[in-house]
Amino acid sequence: MNAITSKLPGFEFIGGKVCLDFANTVSGTREGRSQENLTGYSDLVRWSQEAALVTESQAKTLLYVAERDEGEAATVLTRARVLREAMYHIFTALIAGTQPAGIDIEALNRELRKGTTGASVMLTTDGFVWEWGKEDDALDQMLGPLARSAATLLTSDEQHLVRQCANMRCGWLFVDTTKNHRRHWCRTTICGNNVRVRRHRQRQLELETGF
Ligand SMILES: [Zn+2]
Repeated sequence: MNAITSKLPGFEFIGGKVCLDFANTVSGTREGRSQENLTGYSDLVRWSQEAALVTESQAKTLLYVAERDEGEAATVLTRARVLREAMYHIFTALIAGTQPAGIDIEALNRELRKGTTGASVMLTTDGFVWEWGKEDDALDQMLGPLARSAATLLTSDEQHLVRQCANMRCGWLFVDTTKNHRRHWCRTTICGNNVRVRRHRQRQLELETGF
């Protein structure tokens, strides 16, 4: 199993919501060429740590437990990918103005139910806080917060601000919090520039070939 400091490229967090950042752990569009960036359970842990869903010490515990229970770790990774694709399809359906599929809503609800079982509120010196009832060594502890993030976004006004990157080769999701709600790219410096360069090349080709 990979160490937590594996040499995989760093994950990016540009979605504005953790559930969208999770959907963006696939590079490229689902329909076209895509790259899976969660290739093993350790990637899921590394992503969860970078997303601040688990602490460094929790991440170490999870990797330790996963090495001793590879079957459960593989099951959690599969559940994570199913949840991710369900969220991706629900949000892209909303962006397209179509009805999300029941199978995707059910996949999200499955993890939502698991992620809230045993939840309670606790009174602290700072007021009430959620207590989710998950043990530190529960391999699936990042799935509940991800499902809750998606459910919260879907039931908020911000659901109308979810956008998909206009770079057809990207397809990442983000919440458009710009004043005019005209953000086109997940990362202007990467996707915006790539598209501009491609358009420029296309124009050059048209000029050179006369088409
Ligand atoms: Zn993009």
